[in-house]
Amino acid sequence: MPRRISGQLVIATHNPGKLAEMRELLSPYGVTAISAGELGLAEPEETGDSFAANAKIKAVAAATAAKLPAFADDSGIAVDALDGAPGIYSARWAGPSKDFNAAMSQIERLLAERGATQPSKRKAHFVSALCVAWPDGHIEEVEARADGTLVWPPRGTAGFGYDPMFLPDGHDRTFGEMPSIEKHGLPPLGKGLSHRARAFVKLAERCLD
Ligand code: IMP
Repeated sequence: MPRRISGQLVIATHNPGKLAEMRELLSPYGVTAISAGELGLAEPEETGDSFAANAKIKAVAAATAAKLPAFADDSGIAVDALDGAPGIYSARWAGPSKDFNAAMSQIERLLAERGATQPSKRKAHFVSALCVAWPDGHIEEVEARADGTLVWPPRGTAGFGYDPMFLPDGHDRTFGEMPSIEKHGLPPLGKGLSHRARAFVKLAERCLD
């Protein structure tokens, strides 16, 4: 039986960008979001071997420490021709200086080594795993993906991370060329294209009034 989310919810992130996006998504549901950063909670090590496992580690750690329901996400990009890499290491491929131009160049180099020049050989998908954990141990988990093709050179300056290289299926602009409302926004304002928007819609159907 799915459990509904109400009242206060800890957002288990120390990333201000993610916090703002999640607050925006949750505000229509009357849920008050407090961040793990504001509560001074420690960030657990992400030792899981999947997006879902890492989202769960973050949500459970925050729920246990704050004694409140907690919400966490984990995300990344998986490239088919690279056997799913960088996957859960998507943030790490950019290094400590968070250089996503270097991370995109690295993907392009590996694709070129494999002769992956045709669009059909350059398929990739973003994944978003969301987890809500309650202090009594109850867990709700959802996952969604956005499918597309990798282009080179990167296009557009909007968004972040691997956005300029990712052309979502059925569109002729990369995520880097789309305004954020189009990529992340939920209908009726946006199209709910991104993996996070799709996962959030699933979570809202199950757990939000
Ligand atoms: P984490 O979820 O904070 O562990 O890191 C996810 C990483 O995946 C980010 O640092 C980005 O590199 C990448 N990523 C996740 N979602 C997106 C997206 O919507 N656009 C571009 N890159 C993304």
